[in-house]
Amino acid sequence: MTTNQNIIACGRTVDIGTEVVLWQHAEGYTCPHPRGRRSCSQHDVQLNDAPTHEHSQYQILDLDTAYEELKQSVHQFVLHYDVCYSSHHCHQILKDSTFKGSHFYLDLDGTIYQTCDLYWKTNTAPADDRQGNERAVHIEMANLSWQALAEESDLYHAPKDLYRKVRGRWRFDLPEKYQEKLRIPDFKAFASRSYGERGYFSRRINGRTVRMWDFTEEQYEALIRLCFGIHQLLPKISLKVPFDKKKRRTPLGKIKNFSTFQGILGHAHVQGGKGDGIKKKYDPGSAFNWGRLRRALAGEATG
Ligand SMILES: [Zn+2]
Repeated sequence: MTTNQNIIACGRTVDIGTEVVLWQHAEGYTCPHPRGRRSCSQHDVQLNDAPTHEHSQYQILDLDTAYEELKQSVHQFVLHYDVCYSSHHCHQILKDSTFKGSHFYLDLDGTIYQTCDLYWKTNTAPADDRQGNERAVHIEMANLSWQALAEESDLYHAPKDLYRKVRGRWRFDLPEKYQEKLRIPDFKAFASRSYGERGYFSRRINGRTVRMWDFTEEQYEALIRLCFGIHQLLPKISLKVPFDKKKRRTPLGKIKNFSTFQGILGHAHVQGGKGDGIKKKYDPGSAFNWGRLRRALAGEATG
């Protein structure tokens, strides 16, 4: 198995100090539907639009010019939950679509998968102005979110609740066919935090109640390292998250300056939904620990 800790933008690498599986690796996942960004000029413009072309056609011409253009145009890192059992499952779902993708996946065991050079655009979140993907890098973080409650599971029809309390912690009972595809196949996924007796978190986001268990400890640790690495490569993505100074917390729903914000934010922050086919979004959801990420980015100790 290849060991790598680098992420890549226009051929430049940064070591983020945690395991990254790249698309070129045998065990990696290749973005099924990359696109060219309109503000970048180092590729054939036909690659900006559908349909998806042969992967060999996605060539970056001059890497130095490409990197300068990319640094100027990309200023958001957008976090998503994937509503999937694992990153392997998420990749299958994206492959089945005709246009979707995501630069990164973050699996339950904390493994980061990079699916293409950050030069390319992935269609992950149009945002309310339909320009969301042009200015962003995206990550799909493995978490079933509301699907984890059997009574609310309509996509994958979970026959029973998939989280069980084991010695005071909530464990995700991953079906065997997904468990064996993890990079660490005997990994046991526990929610990093739990809410009271019931375990799952429940908050209203953009008009809907989102019930979900927390991400794993391994996911938070890897995500924090990834945020620093992305900022190093693309400095306009500031090390900050949306924050309501009066309420002293990160809002969960759409923010006013969603298109100009420079930093790390959630899909729900940029996409409150509009009547013309832009869906309401809720991710990364009610359990995501924004306070922890905010403190870590500010250089404060987390735990
Ligand atoms: Zn999303």
